Amino acid sequence: MKLYELTISQAHRGLEKKEFSALELTNAYLEKIRKQDKKIFAYLTITEKLALKKAKEIDVLISKKEKLPLLAGIPAAIKDNILIEDIKCTAGSKILKNYIAPYDAGVIQKLKESGVIFLGKTNMDEFAMGSSCENSGFFPTKNPVDLERVPGGSSGGSAAAVAADMCIFALGSDTGGSIRLPASFCGVVGLKPTYGAVSRYGLIAMASSLDQIGPITKTVEDAKIVFEAIKGKDIMDSTSVDSKFKTPASAKASAGKQNLKIGIPKEYFIKGIDREVEKAVRRAIRKYEKLGAKIEEISLPHTEYALAAYYIIMPSEASSNLARYDGVRYGELREKFGKEVRKRIMLGTYTLSAGYYEAYYLRAQKIRTLIKQDFNKAFKKVDVILTPTSPTPAFKLGEKVTNPLTMYLSDIFTISVNLAGLPALSLPCGKAKGLPIGLQLIGNFFEEDKILETGQLFEDIKL
Ligand code: GLN
Repeated sequence: MKLYELTISQAHRGLEKKEFSALELTNAYLEKIRKQDKKIFAYLTITEKLALKKAKEIDVLISKKEKLPLLAGIPAAIKDNILIEDIKCTAGSKILKNYIAPYDAGVIQKLKESGVIFLGKTNMDEFAMGSSCENSGFFPTKNPVDLERVPGGSSGGSAAAVAADMCIFALGSDTGGSIRLPASFCGVVGLKPTYGAVSRYGLIAMASSLDQIGPITKTVEDAKIVFEAIKGKDIMDSTSVDSKFKTPASAKASAGKQNLKIGIPKEYFIKGIDREVEKAVRRAIRKYEKLGAKIEEISLPHTEYALAAYYIIMPSEASSNLARYDGVRYGELREKFGKEVRKRIMLGTYTLSAGYYEAYYLRAQKIRTLIKQDFNKAFKKVDVILTPTSPTPAFKLGEKVTNPLTMYLSDIFTISVNLAGLPALSLPCGKAKGLPIGLQLIGNFFEEDKILETGQLFEDIKL
């Protein structure tokens, strides 16, 4: 096995047994990036100096036989809307093209304490607005599985970097699907945590009531390791909660095959879903059934309004968050905003205006509550909800740029989860004409462990 193919636990063991040094591991990835990223364009910034310095520090600790955290010496990539002190942070926007982060994000502080090595910052749709990475203010990222296709968005650079072995794991952010969609398009694992499970301090805000940071990894086990390292209360983010929140006692036991109840929402198997995607997901359902899980059809009746509600709430919050880029406090001029960003600022300003607030924003908030109630009801009956991550596999570059509605529809299965604030995992469940397909497992609040264990079951057992 090549150094750049290792998972986190494999790399950790290798470092501990001194099969290779942190410096060798880091150089293997930097070399891979130099060779491969000319074709994929996953990175916006490579932080080579920072990476090499940290690798040497970790090697000193290893030589002193210190017991190291699982993530010590592990090379990672970070989405370019998460601040690393003294490193450029653009959020994929020309408006921030010269912005140097003055402090570390909460998750970066935690990863630094764990000894993670930062290889660089990854490409994304501008301010995380998009589903394909084509809205990046710099260049589009390509899908490593097929260079003519998009990697998904908005964390496309992070997913592509993991899929192309240009890092062991990456961080992304998910406001309406931006971790899970690119994970599914690139054939890797992505976890969107419960709202509040992970600090948003130092995450460049898009829609603050929806945004969450989470891991993109090669395996479910790795997603769990990274999540454990980044979760928890941060005094700088009042919406974050204590990491000692308990997974309900039943979670572990019921993720064992016999008692596991999986809900299949009928509203998620709609017209327009790719036949191969549906087949792969139905195959996954049968696999769980063979393992002894109980499969139950459920209903999430307000699903059809989720996309509309999201495209009111998200632009409303974004229009307020992005008002800070007024050309005074942040060097560049407002005209450097891309088209999609301008569109959403205008939309959000409109829906929040005095005359239209009740007709749009308030109604959308009511729908949000109804969507949440749908899930509450469902989780009284089942442990986990299983759906496809996206209605189609990765589409071609340029295919949807002229029709925003078809682009927005890519998130139809992921968006309700953000509106409700729930955790969800996307993991690979097969291929359609060589393109990866993602399976989504949605859990109840703070039941990340349960969806991770359920995902692990699928990954472990080949039937
Ligand atoms: N694709 C969705 C949007 O464009 C979600 C983006 C995200 O999750 N950051 O808003």
